[in-house]
Amino acid sequence: MIVARDKTGLREALREPRRAGRSVGLVPTMGSLHAGHLSLLRAAREDCDFVVMSLFVNPAQFGPGEDFKRYPRDEARDLRLAEAEGTDLLYAPSVAEVYPPGFATRVEVTGLTEVLCGDPAQRGPEHFQGVTTVVAKLFNSVQPDRAYFGQKDAQQAAVIGRMVADLDIPVRVEVRPTVREPDGLALSSRNAYLDAEERRRAAALNRALRLAEERARTEPLDAALTAAREELAEAGIEPEYLEARDAASLEPVHALDGRPVLVAVAAKVGPARLIDNVLIAP
Ligand code: AMP
Repeated sequence: MIVARDKTGLREALREPRRAGRSVGLVPTMGSLHAGHLSLLRAAREDCDFVVMSLFVNPAQFGPGEDFKRYPRDEARDLRLAEAEGTDLLYAPSVAEVYPPGFATRVEVTGLTEVLCGDPAQRGPEHFQGVTTVVAKLFNSVQPDRAYFGQKDAQQAAVIGRMVADLDIPVRVEVRPTVREPDGLALSSRNAYLDAEERRRAAALNRALRLAEERARTEPLDAALTAAREELAEAGIEPEYLEARDAASLEPVHALDGRPVLVAVAAKVGPARLIDNVLIAP
Protein backbone atom coordinates (compact mmCIF):
# COMPACT_ATOMS: atom_id res chain seq x y z
CA MET A 1 0.00 0.00 0.00
CA ILE A 2 1.30 3.42 -0.97
CA VAL A 3 0.89 6.22 1.60
CA ALA A 4 0.61 9.75 0.20
CA ARG A 5 0.68 12.81 2.46
CA ASP A 6 0.23 15.54 -0.14
CA LYS A 7 -1.36 16.18 -3.53
CA THR A 8 1.93 15.70 -5.37
CA GLY A 9 2.39 12.23 -3.87
CA LEU A 10 -1.25 11.43 -4.54
CA ARG A 11 -0.99 12.49 -8.18
CA GLU A 12 2.18 10.47 -8.65
CA ALA A 13 0.61 7.34 -7.15
CA LEU A 14 -2.46 7.69 -9.38
CA ARG A 15 -0.54 8.28 -12.62
CA GLU A 16 0.19 4.64 -13.44
CA PRO A 17 -3.27 3.15 -12.68
CA ARG A 18 -4.89 6.03 -14.61
CA ARG A 19 -2.57 5.53 -17.59
CA ALA A 20 -3.43 1.83 -17.60
CA GLY A 21 -7.14 2.71 -17.66
CA ARG A 22 -7.84 1.11 -14.29
CA SER A 23 -11.02 2.10 -12.46
CA VAL A 24 -10.49 4.00 -9.21
CA GLY A 25 -12.65 3.65 -6.09
CA LEU A 26 -12.47 6.17 -3.23
CA VAL A 27 -13.48 5.58 0.41
CA PRO A 28 -13.34 8.85 2.39
CA THR A 29 -12.89 8.35 6.16
CA MET A 30 -11.87 10.17 9.30
CA GLY A 31 -9.98 7.08 10.43
CA SER A 32 -10.46 5.19 13.69
CA LEU A 33 -11.55 2.40 11.39
CA HIS A 34 -14.23 -0.12 12.31
CA ALA A 35 -16.10 -2.83 10.43
CA GLY A 36 -18.35 -0.18 8.81
CA HIS A 37 -15.38 1.45 7.11
CA LEU A 38 -13.96 -1.96 6.21
CA SER A 39 -17.22 -2.95 4.50
CA LEU A 40 -16.85 0.13 2.26
CA LEU A 41 -13.23 -0.77 1.45
CA ARG A 42 -14.37 -4.30 0.59
CA ALA A 43 -17.11 -2.97 -1.71
CA ALA A 44 -14.58 -0.72 -3.44
CA ARG A 45 -12.14 -3.64 -3.74
CA GLU A 46 -14.84 -5.75 -5.37
CA ASP A 47 -15.97 -3.09 -7.88
CA CYS A 48 -12.77 -1.22 -8.73
CA ASP A 49 -9.24 -1.96 -9.96
CA PHE A 50 -7.51 0.57 -7.70
CA VAL A 51 -8.74 1.43 -4.19
CA VAL A 52 -7.94 4.74 -2.50
CA MET A 53 -8.83 5.44 1.12
CA SER A 54 -8.56 8.95 2.47
CA LEU A 55 -7.90 9.51 6.15
CA PHE A 56 -8.52 13.05 7.28
CA VAL A 57 -10.16 14.32 10.46
CA ASN A 58 -11.71 17.38 8.87
CA PRO A 59 -11.77 20.35 11.26
CA ALA A 60 -14.25 22.20 9.02
CA GLN A 61 -17.05 19.77 9.82
CA PHE A 62 -16.72 20.09 13.61
CA GLY A 63 -18.52 22.92 15.42
CA PRO A 64 -16.77 25.04 18.09
CA GLY A 65 -18.14 22.94 20.99
CA GLU A 66 -17.63 19.60 19.20
CA ASP A 67 -15.08 16.82 19.60
CA PHE A 68 -12.43 17.68 16.95
CA LYS A 69 -9.54 17.62 19.45
CA ARG A 70 -10.53 14.43 21.22
CA TYR A 71 -11.84 12.59 18.13
CA PRO A 72 -10.19 9.12 18.33
CA ARG A 73 -7.04 8.85 16.17
CA ASP A 74 -4.81 5.81 15.63
CA GLU A 75 -3.13 6.09 12.27
CA ALA A 76 -0.82 3.08 12.68
CA ARG A 77 -3.81 0.81 13.32
CA ASP A 78 -5.80 2.38 10.44
CA LEU A 79 -2.87 1.78 8.09
CA ARG A 80 -2.69 -1.89 9.04
CA LEU A 81 -6.45 -2.39 8.64
CA ALA A 82 -6.63 -0.55 5.31
CA GLU A 83 -3.72 -2.55 3.96
CA ALA A 84 -5.28 -5.84 5.13
CA GLU A 85 -8.39 -4.97 3.07
CA GLY A 86 -6.28 -4.64 -0.07
CA THR A 87 -6.27 -0.84 -0.22
CA ASP A 88 -3.80 0.32 -2.87
CA LEU A 89 -3.30 3.92 -1.76
CA LEU A 90 -3.88 5.70 1.51
CA TYR A 91 -4.16 9.48 1.28
CA ALA A 92 -3.56 11.05 4.69
CA PRO A 93 -3.00 14.78 4.21
CA SER A 94 -2.32 17.27 7.01
CA VAL A 95 -4.75 20.08 7.83
CA ALA A 96 -2.28 22.56 6.25
CA GLU A 97 -2.23 20.50 3.04
CA VAL A 98 -6.04 20.56 2.74
CA TYR A 99 -6.52 24.13 3.99
CA PRO A 100 -3.37 26.09 3.11
CA PRO A 101 -3.08 29.77 4.08
CA GLY A 102 -5.51 31.88 2.05
CA PHE A 103 -8.02 29.05 1.59
CA ALA A 104 -11.35 30.83 1.05
CA THR A 105 -13.80 28.56 -0.80
CA ARG A 106 -16.90 26.81 0.54
CA VAL A 107 -19.04 24.29 -1.31
CA GLU A 108 -22.60 24.62 -0.05
CA VAL A 109 -25.66 22.49 -0.77
CA THR A 110 -28.76 24.36 0.37
CA GLY A 111 -32.02 22.92 1.72
CA LEU A 112 -30.97 19.35 2.45
CA THR A 113 -28.31 20.67 4.83
CA GLU A 114 -30.71 22.78 6.90
CA VAL A 115 -32.79 19.97 8.42
CA LEU A 116 -32.10 17.04 10.78
CA CYS A 117 -28.38 17.30 11.74
CA GLY A 118 -28.17 20.57 9.76
CA ASP A 119 -30.84 22.28 11.84
CA PRO A 120 -29.17 25.27 13.53
CA ALA A 121 -30.24 23.80 16.89
CA GLN A 122 -28.26 20.63 16.01
CA ARG A 123 -24.90 20.71 14.23
CA GLY A 124 -26.09 23.38 11.77
CA PRO A 125 -25.62 23.64 7.98
CA GLU A 126 -21.95 24.60 8.51
CA HIS A 127 -21.27 20.97 9.40
CA PHE A 128 -22.37 19.84 5.93
CA GLN A 129 -20.53 22.75 4.29
CA GLY A 130 -17.40 21.35 5.90
CA VAL A 131 -18.23 17.90 4.53
CA THR A 132 -19.09 18.99 0.97
CA THR A 133 -16.05 21.27 0.75
CA VAL A 134 -13.61 18.52 1.73
CA VAL A 135 -15.36 15.81 -0.32
CA ALA A 136 -15.38 18.08 -3.41
CA LYS A 137 -11.63 18.57 -2.92
CA LEU A 138 -11.12 14.80 -2.58
CA PHE A 139 -13.18 14.16 -5.72
CA ASN A 140 -11.07 16.69 -7.63
CA SER A 141 -7.71 15.43 -6.41
CA VAL A 142 -8.45 11.68 -6.67
CA GLN A 143 -10.93 11.78 -9.59
CA PRO A 144 -12.44 8.44 -8.61
CA ASP A 145 -14.87 6.54 -10.82
CA ARG A 146 -16.84 5.54 -7.74
CA ALA A 147 -16.96 6.80 -4.17
CA TYR A 148 -18.32 4.81 -1.24
CA PHE A 149 -20.39 6.14 1.68
CA GLY A 150 -22.32 4.51 4.52
CA GLN A 151 -26.10 4.56 4.94
CA LYS A 152 -25.47 5.32 8.62
CA ASP A 153 -24.83 8.92 7.57
CA ALA A 154 -27.90 8.99 5.32
CA GLN A 155 -28.18 12.78 5.25
CA GLN A 156 -24.49 13.13 4.36
CA ALA A 157 -24.97 10.64 1.50
CA ALA A 158 -28.03 12.57 0.23
CA VAL A 159 -26.12 15.88 0.39
CA ILE A 160 -23.12 14.45 -1.47
CA GLY A 161 -25.41 12.90 -4.08
CA ARG A 162 -27.00 16.32 -4.61
CA MET A 163 -23.60 18.04 -4.89
CA VAL A 164 -22.38 15.50 -7.45
CA ALA A 165 -25.53 15.90 -9.55
CA ASP A 166 -25.60 19.70 -9.30
CA LEU A 167 -21.89 20.23 -10.07
CA ASP A 168 -21.68 17.51 -12.78
CA ILE A 169 -18.92 15.72 -10.89
CA PRO A 170 -18.13 12.57 -12.88
CA VAL A 171 -18.25 10.08 -9.99
CA ARG A 172 -20.74 7.39 -9.11
CA VAL A 173 -21.84 7.69 -5.46
CA GLU A 174 -22.31 4.27 -3.85
CA VAL A 175 -24.21 4.09 -0.55
CA ARG A 176 -23.73 0.86 1.39
CA PRO A 177 -25.70 -0.60 4.34
CA THR A 178 -24.98 0.24 7.96
CA VAL A 179 -22.83 -2.30 9.79
CA ARG A 180 -24.06 -2.99 13.33
CA GLU A 181 -23.08 -4.60 16.61
CA PRO A 182 -25.02 -7.78 17.49
CA ASP A 183 -27.48 -5.71 19.61
CA GLY A 184 -28.19 -3.40 16.66
CA LEU A 185 -26.02 -0.42 17.65
CA ALA A 186 -24.57 1.14 14.48
CA LEU A 187 -20.77 1.01 14.50
CA SER A 188 -19.30 4.47 14.97
CA SER A 189 -15.91 5.81 15.96
CA ARG A 190 -17.80 7.80 18.61
CA ASN A 191 -18.99 4.61 20.33
CA ALA A 192 -15.54 4.67 21.95
CA TYR A 193 -16.80 7.53 24.17
CA LEU A 194 -19.44 5.28 25.82
CA ASP A 195 -18.94 3.60 29.20
CA ALA A 196 -20.48 0.14 29.77
CA GLU A 197 -23.83 1.45 30.98
CA GLU A 198 -24.13 4.03 28.16
CA ARG A 199 -23.13 1.39 25.64
CA ARG A 200 -25.99 -0.84 26.86
CA ARG A 201 -28.49 2.05 26.69
CA ALA A 202 -27.30 3.10 23.22
CA ALA A 203 -28.80 -0.08 21.75
CA ALA A 204 -32.22 1.56 22.28
CA LEU A 205 -31.58 3.83 19.26
CA ASN A 206 -31.78 1.01 16.75
CA ARG A 207 -34.48 -0.78 18.77
CA ALA A 208 -36.62 2.36 18.54
CA LEU A 209 -36.05 2.67 14.78
CA ARG A 210 -36.95 -0.96 14.17
CA LEU A 211 -40.07 -0.52 16.29
CA ALA A 212 -41.02 2.57 14.24
CA GLU A 213 -40.55 0.62 11.01
CA GLU A 214 -42.64 -2.30 12.23
CA ARG A 215 -45.46 -0.10 13.63
CA ALA A 216 -45.53 2.14 10.55
CA ARG A 217 -46.63 -0.82 8.44
CA THR A 218 -49.92 -1.08 10.40
CA GLU A 219 -50.36 2.27 12.19
CA PRO A 220 -50.23 5.96 11.25
CA LEU A 221 -46.63 7.15 10.94
CA ASP A 222 -46.97 9.65 13.80
CA ALA A 223 -48.15 6.89 16.17
CA ALA A 224 -45.18 4.75 15.12
CA LEU A 225 -42.80 7.63 15.89
CA THR A 226 -44.45 8.12 19.29
CA ALA A 227 -43.88 4.43 20.08
CA ALA A 228 -40.23 4.84 19.08
CA ARG A 229 -39.84 7.90 21.34
CA GLU A 230 -41.30 5.86 24.22
CA GLU A 231 -38.75 3.12 23.56
CA LEU A 232 -35.98 5.73 23.83
CA ALA A 233 -37.49 7.27 26.98
CA GLU A 234 -37.44 3.85 28.66
CA ALA A 235 -33.68 3.80 28.12
CA GLY A 236 -33.41 7.34 29.51
CA ILE A 237 -32.67 8.78 26.06
CA GLU A 238 -34.15 12.10 24.94
CA PRO A 239 -33.54 12.36 21.18
CA GLU A 240 -32.33 15.60 19.58
CA TYR A 241 -34.62 14.55 16.77
CA LEU A 242 -36.54 11.49 15.67
CA GLU A 243 -38.24 12.21 12.38
CA ALA A 244 -39.65 10.66 9.23
CA ARG A 245 -38.44 12.24 5.99
CA ASP A 246 -38.59 11.58 2.27
CA ALA A 247 -35.38 9.63 1.73
CA ALA A 248 -34.27 11.71 -1.28
CA SER A 249 -35.54 15.27 -0.64
CA LEU A 250 -35.52 15.01 3.19
CA GLU A 251 -38.92 16.77 3.19
CA PRO A 252 -41.07 15.81 6.22
CA VAL A 253 -43.54 12.98 5.53
CA HIS A 254 -46.62 12.06 7.53
CA ALA A 255 -47.56 8.78 5.85
CA LEU A 256 -45.96 5.93 3.96
CA ASP A 257 -47.33 6.84 0.56
CA GLY A 258 -45.31 4.79 -1.87
CA ARG A 259 -41.92 6.51 -1.62
CA PRO A 260 -38.89 5.44 0.41
CA VAL A 261 -39.10 6.99 3.87
CA LEU A 262 -36.12 7.62 6.12
CA VAL A 263 -36.70 7.50 9.86
CA ALA A 264 -33.67 9.16 11.42
CA VAL A 265 -32.61 9.71 15.00
CA ALA A 266 -29.88 11.68 16.75
CA ALA A 267 -29.32 11.56 20.49
CA LYS A 268 -26.71 12.27 23.10
CA VAL A 269 -25.91 9.13 25.07
CA GLY A 270 -23.53 10.21 27.82
CA PRO A 271 -20.78 12.20 26.08
CA ALA A 272 -21.44 10.79 22.60
CA ARG A 273 -23.76 12.27 20.01
CA LEU A 274 -24.99 9.24 18.06
CA ILE A 275 -27.07 8.99 14.89
CA ASP A 276 -28.86 6.13 13.19
CA ASN A 277 -31.64 5.62 10.69
CA VAL A 278 -33.83 3.07 9.01
CA LEU A 279 -34.97 3.24 5.41
CA ILE A 280 -38.57 2.05 4.94
CA ALA A 281 -38.93 0.85 1.38
CA PRO A 282 -42.37 1.34 -0.20
P1 AMP B 1 -16.35 8.61 9.18
O1 AMP B 1 -14.98 8.06 9.36
O2 AMP B 1 -17.19 8.53 10.42
O3 AMP B 1 -16.38 9.96 8.52
O4 AMP B 1 -17.07 7.62 8.16
C1 AMP B 1 -16.50 7.34 6.90
C2 AMP B 1 -17.52 6.60 6.08
O5 AMP B 1 -17.88 5.39 6.74
C3 AMP B 1 -18.81 7.39 5.87
O6 AMP B 1 -19.27 7.21 4.55
C4 AMP B 1 -19.74 6.75 6.87
O7 AMP B 1 -21.10 6.83 6.48
C5 AMP B 1 -19.27 5.31 6.82
N1 AMP B 1 -19.69 4.59 8.03
C6 AMP B 1 -19.56 5.01 9.31
N2 AMP B 1 -20.13 4.12 10.15
C7 AMP B 1 -20.63 3.13 9.39
C8 AMP B 1 -21.33 1.91 9.67
N3 AMP B 1 -21.64 1.54 10.90
N4 AMP B 1 -21.69 1.13 8.62
C9 AMP B 1 -21.39 1.51 7.34
N5 AMP B 1 -20.74 2.63 7.02
C10 AMP B 1 -20.36 3.43 8.02
